[in-house]
Amino acid sequence: MSDKKIPFNRPYMTGKELYYIAEAKFANMLAGDGIFTKRCHHWIEEHSGCNKALLTHSCTAALEMAALLLDIKPGDEIIMPSFTFVSTANAFVLRGGVPVFVDIREDTLNLDERLIEAAITPKTKAIVPVHYAGVSCEMDAICDIAYRHNLLVVEDAAQGVMARYKGHTLGSIGDLGTYSFHETKNIISGEGGALLVNASHLALRAEIIREKGTDRSRFFRGEVDKYTWQEPGSSFLPGELIAAFLWAQLEEAESITQKRLVIWNHYHSALAPLEAAGMIRRPIVPNECQHNGHMYYVLLPKGVDRVAVLAAMKKQGIYAVFHYVPLHSSPAGKCFGRVHGQLKVTDVQSERLIRLPLWIGLGKEQQDKIIATLKTSISSVQDG
Ligand SMILES: *Cc1c(COP(=O)(O)O)cnc(C)c1O
Repeated sequence: MSDKKIPFNRPYMTGKELYYIAEAKFANMLAGDGIFTKRCHHWIEEHSGCNKALLTHSCTAALEMAALLLDIKPGDEIIMPSFTFVSTANAFVLRGGVPVFVDIREDTLNLDERLIEAAITPKTKAIVPVHYAGVSCEMDAICDIAYRHNLLVVEDAAQGVMARYKGHTLGSIGDLGTYSFHETKNIISGEGGALLVNASHLALRAEIIREKGTDRSRFFRGEVDKYTWQEPGSSFLPGELIAAFLWAQLEEAESITQKRLVIWNHYHSALAPLEAAGMIRRPIVPNECQHNGHMYYVLLPKGVDRVAVLAAMKKQGIYAVFHYVPLHSSPAGKCFGRVHGQLKVTDVQSERLIRLPLWIGLGKEQQDKIIATLKTSISSVQDG
């Protein structure tokens, strides 16, 4: 038994965070939309090719902005997976929208694009693909369906920063995209996020909604001589200290991604024998998807007690976790959502999934220990 614990997550710092925060502080830049926010906006726009990037205080906030921008009214339906974080659905429910849960694909655990069309009704307003583990949904098919049915696409790219689909940066493909910079994601600012506006007709309203429903941004640019209340909005922007922290991370986004991919790739090759032995299933990344090493998960064989496996690993000091409780089986999901068809893959895969520790600084020896412990833990649970 080892006395060295391996945590599930450990936030990575580039080393410049405090330096930039101090710069903002000494310049008395505290409220949002200062120099660092502008740098972050510019970086996201350059890197992703989106029309307009706007920092928010979380991905949750960016999704709430999306629901406002789409004018979601009570009874409007939004197609999304049930296998996702609560904010994907909650943002639309706040406006009276009805999440319509569609099953996921067996391979990527992403929204199954083949099932979307049958879930569309006259009330459907949008499709929200979630790029699980930074592996893209089948965006060509999804955008084609949306186009033919006159629906908008909001990419929940919370986990997809720096990942690509057929060369396109995630978040820049749909009408809107959302990023998360939460401490548990790849690029971080504690709490933080961004809305990526690709549909140019939504850009001006996005600025207004983010600034309490006012045209303050236009006022600061000198485009109007006073700013006034234009439409319902809220305060969705982060303060400048958060943006300064985020800037230190965005500058290193490329190297952060590469470092995570090295760790991901080691898991993937070292776990191949366990897959061959039928003990786990490894993640599947389609050829057209360039992922970002956000997450390494394994799927246990059906019937293996996941909670017992996690407990056995914890005894050895290894903190692995699982997620998500599918939204359609949660109390709020049952109340506010609707299920389309049967969610068999969602139900089965969500009960088999284990996420392994993945953070920059995690050593190869630690990874090998995690793998060895995973193996003995599965065996002991299967035998026991
Ligand atoms: C993390 C996450 C969110 C929420 O991000 P916050 O920045 O914490 O609000 C939303 N959707 C998905 C898929 C996520 O993984």
